[in-house]
Amino acid sequence: MAFAALTEIRSRLTALSEQGLLRQRRTLESAQGVHVQVDGRALLSFCSNDYLGLASHPALVAAVAQALPEMGVGAGASHLITGHHVAHHAFETRFAEFVGLPEALLFSTGYMANLAVVTALVGRDGEVFGDKLNHASLNDAALLSRAKFSRYAHNDLAALARLMAASTARHKMVLVDAVFSMDGDLADLPALLALCETHDAWLLVDDAHGFGVLGAGGRGSLAHFNLHSPRIIYMVTLGKAAGVSGAIVAAEGDVISWLLQKARTYIYTTATPPILSAALLASLDVIAAADDRRAHLQDLTAQLRSGLLAQGRELLDSATPIQPVIIGSNDATLALSSALLEQGILVPAIRPPTVPVGSARLRITLSAAHTAADVAQLLNAMGNA
Ligand SMILES: *Cc1c(COP(=O)(O)O)cnc(C)c1O
Repeated sequence: MAFAALTEIRSRLTALSEQGLLRQRRTLESAQGVHVQVDGRALLSFCSNDYLGLASHPALVAAVAQALPEMGVGAGASHLITGHHVAHHAFETRFAEFVGLPEALLFSTGYMANLAVVTALVGRDGEVFGDKLNHASLNDAALLSRAKFSRYAHNDLAALARLMAASTARHKMVLVDAVFSMDGDLADLPALLALCETHDAWLLVDDAHGFGVLGAGGRGSLAHFNLHSPRIIYMVTLGKAAGVSGAIVAAEGDVISWLLQKARTYIYTTATPPILSAALLASLDVIAAADDRRAHLQDLTAQLRSGLLAQGRELLDSATPIQPVIIGSNDATLALSSALLEQGILVPAIRPPTVPVGSARLRITLSAAHTAADVAQLLNAMGNA
């Protein structure tokens, strides 16, 4: 008998391919870094979120090598059974101290951390508000919570204020990317916090792209704005600037205690390998002492922006290492990305549904491991393409 569902996904895959929307993986044959090897070719990469160049940093590699014989590879159980190791615990304590929040809880991924926070704190009788450009994991968290989910146009806080004023929900929560992952601009966190105070709501700040890069000592977006409030739940992913893997949520002690009791993506999953926490402890030391890397990153960002503007490229209002170049059509974006690849440069084409239809773009991300010569090479290749 014909298997209709399988036939259907085959034809839908064909359709995606015809629309230039088929996603394909690139296989790295080297460690992550600004110089990578793909299909035997050495490429200059502008696509990782490894903003400080820590993914292959010797201090992190050495921390893992030293911890490995002592800790082994697998955690073997969830945190609430026997998977919680002293290395996880030490990292949680150090992280909370570093960002100046009372307590912290380590998660396996940022996706899971966002699901945890929203579902543990808001339910059917709640309402969740989210910026339209928020990361997919925040949207999925809102849906999974079964709360009413209201989205507002990007950074339109007047619209958010109207939605919050009209809400009769028992619990409210605003979800926001502190640095928007595809545009590179910042959320107005002080104004968002003020709205949360007026309307008695939680504020979940997803700082996947701010931690390590913004704020004194790389302490992130809350430090950048000098914000403190028991309403704030601060989520940082650890696979980006921190160079490792996982995510951590910092908040009031009682919020962390509640997550530990209720967060299903914390309770029903295996703890991360403790060697990763050893790497993260080393990463925090490097981040805290990386003012030179952050200054270099700012110089590279200024160099890239002025070079692209001189070529007449359409940029967004971003002061972060995320520098999108808006092209518009999917085909033109793919063509430009391929033209760069021919010149040995890797810049991904980002297309819908990751970004709104008609705003396909090259998403250039800079790393402190790039040199001014690397950026000049990219500008030159963009000029040729
Ligand atoms: C990458 C990212 C996540 C997901 O984090 P992972 O640890 O990769 O699962 C969540 N939010 C934002 C804004 C991100 O960019």
